[in-house]
Amino acid sequence: MKITDVRTAVVEANYDWTFIRIYTDEGVTGLGESFLAPGLTAIIRDLKPLLVGEDPRNVDKLWSKMRWAASGAGSVGGIVYNAISGIEAALWDVVGKHYGAPIHAFLGGKYRDKVRVYADCHAGEALESLNSVMVARSPKWMPQEAAVSVSSEANQPVHGRAYGEAVADETFTPEMYAQKAREVVEEMGFTAIKFDLDVPNQYTLDTFSGTLTNAEVKFMVSLVEAVREAVGETVDICFDLHWRYNVSDSQRLAYELEPYGLMWLEDPVPPENIEAMRRVAQSTKTPISSGENYYMRFGFRESLEEGALDIIAPDLQKAGGLLEGRKIADMADAHYVAVAPHCIASPIGTIASAHVATAIPNFLALEWHGMSVPFWEDMVVGLDGPVIQDGFIKVPEAPGLGVELNEEVAREYALEGEPFFEE
Ligand code: MG
Repeated sequence: MKITDVRTAVVEANYDWTFIRIYTDEGVTGLGESFLAPGLTAIIRDLKPLLVGEDPRNVDKLWSKMRWAASGAGSVGGIVYNAISGIEAALWDVVGKHYGAPIHAFLGGKYRDKVRVYADCHAGEALESLNSVMVARSPKWMPQEAAVSVSSEANQPVHGRAYGEAVADETFTPEMYAQKAREVVEEMGFTAIKFDLDVPNQYTLDTFSGTLTNAEVKFMVSLVEAVREAVGETVDICFDLHWRYNVSDSQRLAYELEPYGLMWLEDPVPPENIEAMRRVAQSTKTPISSGENYYMRFGFRESLEEGALDIIAPDLQKAGGLLEGRKIADMADAHYVAVAPHCIASPIGTIASAHVATAIPNFLALEWHGMSVPFWEDMVVGLDGPVIQDGFIKVPEAPGLGVELNEEVAREYALEGEPFFEE
């Protein structure tokens, strides 16, 4: 069996959903998804000659071949691995179809039939779409009213240090947080939810300094309190800080949130200083999570050894792929640390992540970041119900990934200027 071609397609959703399809001389194809990155499809095209002519069943060897070929461009991590992750997942889809078994069978089999999903929530209408450098845009599926408010914040990256000139508005209030939390739990059946806590508010004095004013800490606590009161004690709640703050303000916030029993507080400080993360994590009873910016098992090793994280959140469309996800989870397991995979993918990447989530013992919850995309559920065919039902994904048993891309829907929302599987 030989690989004959590697092609890409990009859908303009809340983020760019980049799909990789691998073609073989036996007519079997495999589909994977990569986490967004600037220039991503060009990287995938550059990697293609390393794959054509190879046997797709040698997944780990091909992974190493790509890794070492890209080493001159930075083998310790970075966006080459976004490309490699999607290719690796597509290889597993080929392997599964070839042998007639689901991907999770190759990762050790199932611990669970259904994978618990946590919903990433935004207060208000939350119709958000961001390009590969996190600048808001207005795709054609977004209603006109929402598009207008997005364009008023043009050119301001919405994650990372700056919220630009964005100001507090009626979206980010305890009442709006509580309302969304109730809606997601009561109407959609989720048992775990996450909100952003580093949102624009009137108490912020300086968005670049990494500092928090006293009033801002109290405002954040009021958001958390509102969510906890809205959903009660039987729902797990998490909050994300997007690497925005310094050590001491992170410690103070984590301490003040202790009474609310968070499942985790995510990315308080920037990810590259493990010692700083350790100081935050070890200062508080609030569990600290991070990992969406770490690559491969090597990127998680120090945090685990140093006790810098209570929960790790590798993104399997980015951290090196599905088997690498298994390896990262095994390393975390040796430190008695749970894994809650980060995921902002379409159903293709989300289901690929669910295959890993069912195969690892130390699984906590898998992210779903598609609430703002009206066609999220429509992107795949091959299931007998919705991808996510009552906050769980039933892991497919069909060969490979177990679903196929809905080409009609994907084509309708394809990103302009990108090939659609070479068409
Ligand atoms: Mg996050």
